[in-house]
Amino acid sequence: MSEAYYDGDCGVFCDNCAPAGAETMGDGEADYPMHCDECGRPLDYSMTEEGVKYAINEMKETLKTGRKEYLKASQCLKYYKGCPQVDITRDWAGDLIWYNLPDEQERFIKKFLSWTEYQIEKELRK
Ligand SMILES: [Zn+2]
Repeated sequence: MSEAYYDGDCGVFCDNCAPAGAETMGDGEADYPMHCDECGRPLDYSMTEEGVKYAINEMKETLKTGRKEYLKASQCLKYYKGCPQVDITRDWAGDLIWYNLPDEQERFIKKFLSWTEYQIEKELRK
């Protein structure tokens, strides 16, 4: 995760890619997980309730599709290039674990992290 920067022209960036003169976005909330426009690195920016729902739905989708590469991973530019979708959703989950969420959502996110960790370990042992 990186702090989020914007260039005043709708672009959002990580600290590696922020163009000269870009300013930090400070505290705020977004309705979806934010990624750097340039490299796709996840940005440290709070999600609204809608954003949390979106991320949890993507985690559920990830569990259904398994570890196979998924369209969104390739759309996520070089930071995730060649990574399976699960790497992206695990990063979101790792961020959401610090939110003060309702018990049901928090339980799901913890389960998601341990299920996917187990799957990844199993895959690596093959
Ligand atoms: Zn970047």
